[in-house]
Amino acid sequence: YSGKKPVQSVADSMIGMKVRDFQSIPVVVAEHVSVYDAICHMFLEDVGTLFVVDESLHLTGVLSRKDLLRTSIGNTDLDKIPVHVIMTRMPNITYCEKQDTLLQVAKKLMNKQIDSLPVVHDSGNGLEVVGRMTKTNITAAFISLADDHEL
Ligand code: ADP
Repeated sequence: YSGKKPVQSVADSMIGMKVRDFQSIPVVVAEHVSVYDAICHMFLEDVGTLFVVDESLHLTGVLSRKDLLRTSIGNTDLDKIPVHVIMTRMPNITYCEKQDTLLQVAKKLMNKQIDSLPVVHDSGNGLEVVGRMTKTNITAAFISLADDHEL
């Protein structure tokens, strides 16, 4: 006996897949950090998206690779531009919560044509960033479905 679930139960397993079981650690920067430092941070942390937070660590923005690239083209003083000037900001940020399903996340990623979502906890006076969901997390979940069943 393989210990794997029958193929017929794939649908049930899929619906049961939650953000909390597949999320990654978020990488955040403060609003006043320069575009130059954000680029260094993105490379050092090996992520494609940085989340921007205020002094109380609440989510205020998102920085993608192309946001940083766009600003870098023809700009020589990247160390003088704070990230809050170029980031995508609240309330235009698409996010998810720990208890959401991966299917909900996958749909948001596709509909908005973005690579990642911050996983947040609503503290009442702001959104605390507690995780990161990317297309890679969805791909890992896809593989785990196959691994858990007789596929
Ligand atoms: P890239 O721009 O490197 O292709 P994305 O496709 O993730 O990466 O980002 C596209 C645009 O959408 C960027 O301007 C980015 O700031 C914005 N963006 C990325 N993630 C989110 C998100 N979760 N909510 C809202 N906007 C986002």
